[in-house]
Amino acid sequence: MDACSGELLGLTAAELAALMVDWGEKPFHGRQLYGALYHRRQLDPGSMTELSKDLRQKLASCTITLPRLQRRQRAADGTEKYLLELRDGAKIECVLIPERKRNTLCISTQAGCPLDCRFCLTAMLGYKRNLSPAEILGQILYVLGDKNLEVVSAAGGSSPALTNLVLMGMGEPLLNLENVLKSLSIMADPLGLALSPRRITLSTVGLVPQMRELARAAVVPNLAVSLSATTDEVRDRLMPINRKYPIDTILQACADFPLKGNQRVTFEYVLMAKVNDSDDDARRLVKLLAHLRSKVNLLPLNPGNANGLRPSSPRRVNRFREILTGKGLPAYVRRPRGMDIHAACGQLHLAPDQPSRTTRTSRLDTIS
Ligand code: SAH
Repeated sequence: MDACSGELLGLTAAELAALMVDWGEKPFHGRQLYGALYHRRQLDPGSMTELSKDLRQKLASCTITLPRLQRRQRAADGTEKYLLELRDGAKIECVLIPERKRNTLCISTQAGCPLDCRFCLTAMLGYKRNLSPAEILGQILYVLGDKNLEVVSAAGGSSPALTNLVLMGMGEPLLNLENVLKSLSIMADPLGLALSPRRITLSTVGLVPQMRELARAAVVPNLAVSLSATTDEVRDRLMPINRKYPIDTILQACADFPLKGNQRVTFEYVLMAKVNDSDDDARRLVKLLAHLRSKVNLLPLNPGNANGLRPSSPRRVNRFREILTGKGLPAYVRRPRGMDIHAACGQLHLAPDQPSRTTRTSRLDTIS
């Protein structure tokens, strides 16, 4: 039988075991291969010495494809942005954010994004396609290899380590749910990448049916919801998807989302001058979230989008935060990271010379 006709990366332990059976091998070789790929990150079958020579030879005709590095930029604050090219030429970005006690990797789930949020630069790229599990996991494997990082739970605390993973790069993870769930299962599997689900955060604009499906998944990450408005009228304008899933439906899905221990739902709120940053907005936000175990990350608008939106002043940001915390709602101001290399939130938009879409058409009809 022909040894391999496809890509090994992205396959689950069960799929690899089935492949072995197809080849007339014992299924446990599938588990060995799984451990080699994701746990030990051996991306060359020749180095998988626990497998027989015969099997290694068969595997040599399979592909294990990582994204290709196009450009790596390092910001003054240590943040590193990777521009990666996929097999069909599609380009994506991921960002490694070093902090004192942790290293967070922010990965993409789609090439471009179809959601058209008015304040986000990725929206200007338009939408190309969903990423495969191999492409989602490939970003992690690429950066782990590039930086020689361990995964914290697997290495038992030896440093340096990748401690946190956020699905907050390009795209809307819940529009690519099947591939994201498959990737999450491999990321969180102790025999796979071995990242604790508590250290993985998925951010969504609030796609209600998919949030409910995520709540029932085998691996449930932390949930972050990009809210950024306290009335449907304002949110409709900023985030067209709100016309489909208005604020109350999103908050109900959050209330039903399973939380363990001291876990909370994070609400991201991009602060824009005179749009959503008034004292009344802050008070409304407190009321909206009153019955949820939640915290708020305040993100002063990162500039770049041409829609005439401006960041709130530092004074306004502080005042907004004080109203929230004064009412007992935990709120943090997220310091923008990697601003000088356009790596900050909502700034992932490839090379500055990349042609950007000039017309904006809402594609809500295509979003389920
Ligand atoms: N589509 C998902 C995942 C992307 S996360 C989501 O929107 O949640 C990207 C985060 O960056 C979101 O919280 C988004 O609200 C925020 N963001 C987008 N544009 C921004 C900007 N110009 N300044 C600051 N934050 C921005």
